[in-house]
Amino acid sequence: MPAGPRVGQVGIAENLAEVRRRVDEACVAAGRDPSQVRLLPVSKTKPPSAIREAYDAGVRLFGENKVQEAVAKAEVFADVPDLRWAVIGHLQTNKARQVAAVADEFHALDSLRVAEALNRRLHMLDRTLDVFVQVNSSGEESKFGLAPEDVPGFARELEQFQTLRVRGLMTLAVFSDDAALVGACFARMRELQARLQDSHDHPEWWRELSMGMSGDYELAISYGATTVRVGQAIFGNRLDPNDYWPVSAR
Ligand SMILES: *Cc1c(COP(=O)(O)O)cnc(C)c1O
Repeated sequence: MPAGPRVGQVGIAENLAEVRRRVDEACVAAGRDPSQVRLLPVSKTKPPSAIREAYDAGVRLFGENKVQEAVAKAEVFADVPDLRWAVIGHLQTNKARQVAAVADEFHALDSLRVAEALNRRLHMLDRTLDVFVQVNSSGEESKFGLAPEDVPGFARELEQFQTLRVRGLMTLAVFSDDAALVGACFARMRELQARLQDSHDHPEWWRELSMGMSGDYELAISYGATTVRVGQAIFGNRLDPNDYWPVSAR
């Protein structure tokens, strides 16, 4: 018997086409223009071969949740100038240097200390970074992100950092099969976005909502998501730790 396909290694182009199709469908169902929603493929744990396959299918921006892994992959693809990285996971200040050097986008900004550290490193490198403020929309203690009521104050503090280009808000909804619970998280985000657009001196900072993953991206689109971060529906499941790449980064 020939060996079966490796989970997550086969059909990435087909999976991408299917997710793109469903994104477009969700936009139409929500009365939104499909060009207003961006698909951010999340390649965490997946090897360079999978990234290459997605690249060949047209992907130019990849989401990674661990800084060390993003750095390792950026080295592998250093000779591909149009391949860019979005760091989407929680950041400790001691890793700000690497994010400033490697990332085009950072989706998990949730503290002044991290903002300061990034700003300092970005100044040294003469770079800017697109950032999304992470919000804990479910109230779960296990989740990173600012409480919604703390975001307007945080938004004012961010005005001092010239290297950070705020593009909007980011969240991970509660992990649940109950669409009402998940939808409530997305609805909180949209309310917060509206409040910032009404009250902050830079309403244009709050155009984007980065929310929705493999299990809930269509629902997120119905609540106004502008970037959906999708991993497993494109690259296959992450269940087998032997499939992780690079092993040292996990
Ligand atoms: C892994 C991850 C995703 C994608 O999750 P999937 O279930 O694989 O689609 C999205 N956002 C963040 C912050 C992640 O860490």
